[in-house]
Amino acid sequence: MARVLTYDDLPPDVQANLDLAYRAFSRRRYDEAIRGFTAVVDAYPAYIHGVFTLVRALRASDDRASANARLSAAAAIAPDDPRIELGLAWKALDAGDARDAEALATRALPRIEPELRGNVLAVLARAAEASGRTEDAARLFLEAYEAGTMLGWLEEHCRLAGIEYLDPGPDTIAPWPTTAVARRWMYAAIEAALVEAARAKDPAVPDGQVLITGCDGTARLTAAWARRAGVDRPRLYQALANRGGYCDCEVLLNATERDGADAFALVAGVIDGPLDEVVAALEDILYGDAPSEPVRLDPDAERLEHCLGIYLDEASARIPLQVTDRATVGWILRAMADRPPTRARLRLLVGFTDQAPAMALAGPDGATLRIKELDDGPVPSDLDAAWPDLAAQLAALRAGLPGPGA
Ligand SMILES: [Zn+2]
Repeated sequence: MARVLTYDDLPPDVQANLDLAYRAFSRRRYDEAIRGFTAVVDAYPAYIHGVFTLVRALRASDDRASANARLSAAAAIAPDDPRIELGLAWKALDAGDARDAEALATRALPRIEPELRGNVLAVLARAAEASGRTEDAARLFLEAYEAGTMLGWLEEHCRLAGIEYLDPGPDTIAPWPTTAVARRWMYAAIEAALVEAARAKDPAVPDGQVLITGCDGTARLTAAWARRAGVDRPRLYQALANRGGYCDCEVLLNATERDGADAFALVAGVIDGPLDEVVAALEDILYGDAPSEPVRLDPDAERLEHCLGIYLDEASARIPLQVTDRATVGWILRAMADRPPTRARLRLLVGFTDQAPAMALAGPDGATLRIKELDDGPVPSDLDAAWPDLAAQLAALRAGLPGPGA
């Protein structure tokens, strides 16, 4: 069996031609990509990545006969290569052989490169659907979307799961399945994980590159947050995609921008029980000075200088009503979700412009973060019991928020 060649094995002039062919492929100029890859793989048939990309370009141009001929030739050279197995699985699906497609994709899955994992999962989903296993198929399409962020897979999931699918276009506003306050936790959680991944990859990565460096092109961090927060994943992905948030870095670079990233929030709250563990978790976010009274969230709030942290009146363990920025709200919630207090309980009221206020609770006894939106009605009795002065605090918060239509 011939040795499989990689890009680095090829001479510089061939690499230069390949660069052009890969660029043409990524821009969906398939005729140009087909010409480029054909020239290279005719000369170097063991360059399997080139064969595989040629197969994708041929299939995208509906030339399945040529794609299949290329696959057969490559299978003689590298039958166990997961990319060739994926190509053969596509061929099997075309031929209506779901069982063969499933066997090939199952073999390929643990060895496939991360960028193609979604494609393999999509094959498994189609094979499951063809075999009448609709629930498996729906689950696999959702996993395929999380791995490869192709909208078509999300749409297939919605179709199989009986969920409405909104085509993300300029005329569609997909509703959020979760509160604006919970989304600040989401953005903070994804950002922290991306920064960690980027620094692990390259400790010297510049700040401006950190989100892209930490992203692996999947929605895995968004998915992990949604599972943890108990948020409906397909609806969340639709709302994010609608705002340009497909992979994890795009969620932060695009979706958050369209979700009031620069706006400010009103917060108030209280810490019941010992302060030390809550203060330790929030140390980097706490700000020393007491806020000037009275606090109101109005357009002038953007000119407030001391709003990039929260103030804590330690004498009474109160978080007095104050203006802060939305990112800080996210960091507080992330800190409390990651390290819920064991002895104390943190209770926070958050008001965003044009949103119903929400209440967040974390601890005691390590109880995880709970976020509840509070509509205009009276405070529900169960919440009133958990937070006896909630109604008064809420009234103060609402008085500080701009009125409807402001
Ligand atoms: Zn990304």
